[in-house]
Amino acid sequence: MRNLFVIWFMILTLNAMAQKTPFENSGKTETTTYSAAISYYENIAKTYSQAKLLTYGSTDFGKPLHLLVLSKDKNFDPVAIRKSNKRILLINNGIHPGEPEGIDASMMLVRDVLKADQLPQDVVICIIPVYNIDGSFNRTGTSRANQNGPVAYGFRGNSKNLDLNRDFIKTDSKNSAAFQLIFNTWQPEIFVDTHTSNGADYQYVMTLIPTQKDKLNTVLSGYLTKTLVPGLYNEMEKKGYPMIPYVNSFGEIPETGIAGFIESPRYSTGYTTLHNTIGFMPETHMLKSYDLRVDATYKLLQTYIDIVQRDAKIECLLC
Ligand SMILES: [Zn+2]
Repeated sequence: MRNLFVIWFMILTLNAMAQKTPFENSGKTETTTYSAAISYYENIAKTYSQAKLLTYGSTDFGKPLHLLVLSKDKNFDPVAIRKSNKRILLINNGIHPGEPEGIDASMMLVRDVLKADQLPQDVVICIIPVYNIDGSFNRTGTSRANQNGPVAYGFRGNSKNLDLNRDFIKTDSKNSAAFQLIFNTWQPEIFVDTHTSNGADYQYVMTLIPTQKDKLNTVLSGYLTKTLVPGLYNEMEKKGYPMIPYVNSFGEIPETGIAGFIESPRYSTGYTTLHNTIGFMPETHMLKSYDLRVDATYKLLQTYIDIVQRDAKIECLLC
């Protein structure tokens, strides 16, 4: 009887451990490996019927690209989902694997939302766990020497040494072709590509780059500038992470003006704008500690889910 109790206790402990992410198990100082992230999501998909882990195409590394889909009513058919007038939010993580906040934040957020049975009614959430799989295997603690953690992380280039965030329209990489397959299959309304800043100093943990508004249809740019961006700023301030726009150029000062950045379609959000999808690149500030950067990314992704749900039926206002 005592032995049975010990076995039961061990199973409970192992289950609890399995639900914790490598980031949490490391005391919030380490990022997950690619293999740990995928087996974590496989476990999530086995545990929760509202989650499905799909694969698309291949990458230059030879592994397929994964997509985790969260759907409250367990509908995983993108055509049927669009017919039922739901919104689709696509989150892309690890395009630069040395900037892995989104990878770790998404793992915790997915678990927390499913565990609390809090998936949004009108939004299907799609997450690419790690886009640059190649680079995530090229793991050191030195390729981003000025960055304040995590302990070790992947490299920016993929296995062909391509920067995947310059490859969205030219598609020299198989990763890009697999992304296009995912993107055109799911046709998201909102796209978020998670990053870490590379240079400029900020007081803020989180900076944000919305797609350059004038490239969008005027209805979408109006929604972006008047509703979506102010909503994100307000909610993040309430959550303890006020944001600031990302500054692209150095040497510019407010008195002389700061040029807006027009991302061409070789960038992720430039590509998504070609398809009338509103894209964002959140960039956490590299000099802030890794645990804060992950926490801010978690809260920002949570805010996207809440706001897309809030505005899911907003098209009726335009009818
Ligand atoms: Zn980046």
